[in-house]
Amino acid sequence: MITKQKQSKKTMPKVHLSRLKFTILLGLIGLVINLYPIPLFGNAQLIVGNAAYVIVAILLGPWYALLAATMTSIGLFIAWQSWHIFVLFSIQALWLGFARRKDIYSLYADIAFWLIVGMPLFYGYVVMFSDMPGSHLTFVTLKQAINGIFCTSLGSLLVTFIPQLWQWPSKIADSQSRPFNAQLTYTFTQILTMALICSALLFNHYFIDKQQNHLKRNLEDTATQIGIATNKYIAHHQTAINNAASWLSLSSQQDQQWQNMLSRMHQNYPSFITMLMANADGNINAASPISRLNQQKIAKGNINISDRDYFHEAFYNQRTYVSPVFQGRGFGSDPIVAISAPIYQQNQVVGIIEGSLNLNNFGQFDIKHGVDGISMVIIDNDNRVIYASPELGMAALSSFTYSLSGENYKTILQMINFGDIDNQSPEYVFTQFGLDNGWSLYTVKPFSPLLKLLETQYLSTFAVLVISLIITVFLIQTISQRLTRPLELIAKKFSEKRTDFEDEAVIIEAEVPLEIQALHSSIRQSKRQLISYQLELEEKVAIRTFELEKANTKLKSLAERDDLTGLYNRRYAEQKFASIQEMCQRTDEAMTLAIIDIDHFKDINDSHGHLVGDEAIRILAKQMLKSFKRDTDMVSRYGGEEFLLILPLCNVLKVEAHLNQFKQQVAALSIPTAKDDKTISMTISIGAVMGNASYSSDLEDWFKIADRNLYHAKSNGRNRVVTSMQPDAPLQATKL
Ligand code: GH3
Ligand code: MG
Ligand code: MG
Repeated sequence: MITKQKQSKKTMPKVHLSRLKFTILLGLIGLVINLYPIPLFGNAQLIVGNAAYVIVAILLGPWYALLAATMTSIGLFIAWQSWHIFVLFSIQALWLGFARRKDIYSLYADIAFWLIVGMPLFYGYVVMFSDMPGSHLTFVTLKQAINGIFCTSLGSLLVTFIPQLWQWPSKIADSQSRPFNAQLTYTFTQILTMALICSALLFNHYFIDKQQNHLKRNLEDTATQIGIATNKYIAHHQTAINNAASWLSLSSQQDQQWQNMLSRMHQNYPSFITMLMANADGNINAASPISRLNQQKIAKGNINISDRDYFHEAFYNQRTYVSPVFQGRGFGSDPIVAISAPIYQQNQVVGIIEGSLNLNNFGQFDIKHGVDGISMVIIDNDNRVIYASPELGMAALSSFTYSLSGENYKTILQMINFGDIDNQSPEYVFTQFGLDNGWSLYTVKPFSPLLKLLETQYLSTFAVLVISLIITVFLIQTISQRLTRPLELIAKKFSEKRTDFEDEAVIIEAEVPLEIQALHSSIRQSKRQLISYQLELEEKVAIRTFELEKANTKLKSLAERDDLTGLYNRRYAEQKFASIQEMCQRTDEAMTLAIIDIDHFKDINDSHGHLVGDEAIRILAKQMLKSFKRDTDMVSRYGGEEFLLILPLCNVLKVEAHLNQFKQQVAALSIPTAKDDKTISMTISIGAVMGNASYSSDLEDWFKIADRNLYHAKSNGRNRVVTSMQPDAPLQATKL
């Protein structure tokens, strides 16, 4: 006993320790897997490690699941730096664990969890604690739920398909059996959920890849196109200014004639808003359109541009120069880009010629907007906007502020933010193209429509998933019902105690699976056989019972009756005496007990043989039955040639006469002998006692007196009746 107790004490904590070890092992596996979430697109990632605590919840219930969930969440916390997962996944683990205890299938429980608790909780968290754009919220929340359901179906599938887990002795056992229908539906739901989510992810992955590549190529092609055109445009105008300068240098025209020449030249290059020439001092001496400028001012040399870079670069550095964007002065206040070149005379720089490019002309390349929603920005070397598509809302000359965003986004695209530069959620996708003069060209496209498209894509594939799940569940129900309903019917039919089979064929329809039809017919056959066995058995039992009853009656008569005469035997007579005496005593009646003995019977035997003796006994017995035929009279063979008579409820006065009459009847009987027709006769002696039944309940008392009387009858010559009266009970007599 002591050793047994010790053993059981040792094994109890061992079970718990193995559970704890298992939980920690799975928790660690989940933690490591969750360190590396699988990137899908954008900032959406697929978490797989949570399947670990789903397994623990199914096998060990809520509290172990809570431990495992905390561990797997640590892995994800390291990857995401977000605390909400501890709360969300812990609640999920507990939910699944408690559902397991109630025998609710985990996948169903999980779907309920995300609908009732998970999604509202996560949505609330994202709204309150993250700077995610509102349009993105529904998708992110739904993605979280689908990810959760994915992990649950993965976990429960692993439990189902890994035999070691399924048969693990430590796991929680089902408290009830489930119908086949439910089991089949659940297994298919698990497999289908996994398959559909995986295929949706894979399909969307390829779709997204294609979309991204397409967009990237589109952006790059557009940038190259616009870039080349812009380069040409600038080069063209650079050449124009250059040619003009060379032409002026070669001609012997004087400063005074420059105005005419400039006006003519300007007509050829309408892309310049304005053109001007300045002398060596930087004073403007010709300008076009002339209407913009006060002629007097030029004449007076009042407008000086010697402080401008374009003058400086052209005049002193003697090169064709394209300026960054700057604010115009004198000719109006437009932001402009100036192209300038030096003018020589006799190998001496005498001035410059300049054209101000109309920045709006860069808009002529901004054609893609209407087609693909692509916008463009051209930035000069000083990081100022030369041209931006109107929808971007960037004024020319404004400084170009941006931040590269989408650091955590898994995409081949480059992301940029112009407005909310602190937000990690990307505003635009872009490519950059370096222009020949050091400027930059950006082609950009808003990111949110792309995201929206992908979200719609995901949502529609998941909608297909849900619809196919519903259809499949319905189909499985129908199929399994086709299997289980006939089985139920068969079970019900055969449990009934019926022996007619003819109408049972009706319940099995043609579309019932062949195996069930075979089962049905074999059960029918078995039942038929069983019933025939049963009938056979019943018949056998009836026959045996009848024979047994017969034997019993025989046995009983053998026990009660005498063989030779058929009269009651001594044992029965002695038994019966008690009840007769009791009955007579109750009604205060008298009774008679008489012993009848054949006289000299030995002589009959000796002279005629035993057979004749037997016959004499039989004849006497018959006569006794004739003479004492009341139902209550008890006639028995007491032994040998002695008979006992018990006559209850008798008239004492008449009994002696009746006995004498009987004695005479016997004497008149003739007994056949073996020798021809010769008969013999016999006489009997009777010793009787009469008295009130209350005399004694002991047969011995009565017998003794009767026997004494018989002795007297014998000794007084035989063939006589000796009776005596017993007045009352001996006890009462003593009392009197
Ligand atoms: P008594 O007048 O004094 O009664 O003389 P008895 O010869 O009848 O008396 P006893 O008791 O000496 O003899 C009885 C004989 O009855 C003895 C026995 O052989 C014979 N006997 C007893 N039972 C049977 C029986 O069943 N069949 C035959 N044939 N004889 C029997
Ligand atoms: Mg005798
Ligand atoms: Mg005798």
